[in-house]
Amino acid sequence: QVEQDQIKSLIRSIPDFPEAGVVFRDITTALKDAEGLRIIMDDFVERYKDKHIDYVLGADARGFIFGAALAYAIGAGFVPARKPGKLPAETVSVSYDLEYGSNSIEVHKDAFTKGDNVLVIDDLLATGGTAKAMTELVEALGAHVYELAFMIELADLGGRDILKEYDVYSQLKY
Ligand code: IMP
Repeated sequence: QVEQDQIKSLIRSIPDFPEAGVVFRDITTALKDAEGLRIIMDDFVERYKDKHIDYVLGADARGFIFGAALAYAIGAGFVPARKPGKLPAETVSVSYDLEYGSNSIEVHKDAFTKGDNVLVIDDLLATGGTAKAMTELVEALGAHVYELAFMIELADLGGRDILKEYDVYSQLKY
């Protein structure tokens, strides 16, 4: 397990971004720190190597950073879950509610096939809406969600509750 205090010291907290009352956890400061990045990635790699994971599914856009590096290190493939209109071939799409309005996320229809073992990853778990939508994409294509992995979990927002049928791992909690 990562050294929580060490990594927390590398995360920049920005009050009132993107709107008043929200404290944004900025991971760019941790990513740019070579040792910080290594500690974060080594922890994910230790946890997921030798688990027969076929694909790592990363959420647009910060999930791509950890997801691609992790997939490479554990010998899995990487699949991006993208915001609407970005993927060029035929897609499957899932919509989810936000506090104001809704959003959707999609993967190519041929991203997974029945029985594939998929690890879902994003930088941060908040309400869990994004993560839940990703599990629905995996399952819509007949694949299996091995676990969901996050660098940061905002524990008060209840993301874990809407993901209670899955295993959820986070390196740091706020
Ligand atoms: P959720 O769908 O409410 O769980 O929100 C998670 C998504 O919002 C992730 O894709 C995060 O990248 C993004 N997000 C929400 N809050 C923050 C934050 O404080 N820092 C970085 N990303 C955030």
